Amino acid sequence: MKAVAVKLRKKNGVHLRDIDKPKLNEIKNGRGILVKVLRVGVDGTDKKIVSAGYGDAPDKDEFLIIGHECLGQVESVGKNVVELKPGDYVVPTVRRPGTSLYDHIGMSDMTTDDTYFERGINLLHGFLTEYFIDEPEHLVQIPSGLKHTGVLLEPVGIVVKAITQAYEIQRRLRVWKPKRAAVLGNGSIGLLATLLLRLRGIHVVTTGIQEPPYLNSDLIEEIDAKYINAKKETLKQISKKHGPFDLIIEATGQSPLVFEAMEILAKNGVLALLSITGGNRTVEIPSDKINQSFVLGNKVAFGSVNANREHFEMAIKEMTHAEFQYPGWLQKLLTHPVKGLSNYNKLFKTLDEGENVIKVYCEVTA
Ligand code: BGC
Ligand code: ZN
Repeated sequence: MKAVAVKLRKKNGVHLRDIDKPKLNEIKNGRGILVKVLRVGVDGTDKKIVSAGYGDAPDKDEFLIIGHECLGQVESVGKNVVELKPGDYVVPTVRRPGTSLYDHIGMSDMTTDDTYFERGINLLHGFLTEYFIDEPEHLVQIPSGLKHTGVLLEPVGIVVKAITQAYEIQRRLRVWKPKRAAVLGNGSIGLLATLLLRLRGIHVVTTGIQEPPYLNSDLIEEIDAKYINAKKETLKQISKKHGPFDLIIEATGQSPLVFEAMEILAKNGVLALLSITGGNRTVEIPSDKINQSFVLGNKVAFGSVNANREHFEMAIKEMTHAEFQYPGWLQKLLTHPVKGLSNYNKLFKTLDEGENVIKVYCEVTA
């Protein structure tokens, strides 16, 4: 069968290769599940892997099969699997357990190990292929009524984790009820964060860097959030008009913005950092001011990576809620289907096109 892989540390090492179809008995104890891949989404992380700036191949191979946002259908199950049956729709989680305490309690997203294992990203093969096998512990069943948007479950999980963490942190305040939030960035993560905060009834301002109207700004306004072109106003100006922001989610990939966000965060506020920034940028910052406002304002900033099984399960509930509150909205994020694994070049070219491109995904099986 075919798979899309990269040769690591080689620019444009992305290629189609023939690999063996996996067999159920590769997983011991009769707990294997063979999954047929239906759709796989791509994102900035894949872009970084393809341009040789991130990720690594499994030890035994000199290539990595990419793809970590997957929707599949169970093809067959081992004799000791009771959780799933052929025909069920599933989404695999991305990270696999390491050895730290957190890994042992199902929270590999919080691992303190130096090495982390992520399918399609780091040290484990991913899902841009025809079939894969995994254990039931790592496959989340999604209701067939959500299968049209199921490929979005992984990124929704990422946002669920960040928001859940923010609320967990804010339990320190006993009565925290965020009124206003700012989401920096309006790519898939920014849009999904806007949605989830709106589902909680929070007033949301989301920034982008294009002049409205365009698809992303329309989608933001459609769910009664406010779009602002951050090229025309500074974060300070935005905060003066629409803040103060009790919660800020940074999802632009522009690390200098983090320090501007720290400056405008409300007293007792919380700032969630979601961007993976592979570079080496340095900037000058007003450190005294930022520090003082953090101390006097009891503010928190935290980073959030990945999502564990619990977040995927919560993400299903969020997507179901979204479907009732804003019917059809999630589907509109699926802007760019690309047919077939052999069109992998188009997959990455489309991802670079920018305007009106939200989610690019491969239709592996029609
Ligand atoms: C993935 C996460 C992963 C992170 C870091 C993101 O694109 O969606 O699952 O943990 O990259 O590798
Ligand atoms: Zn991702």
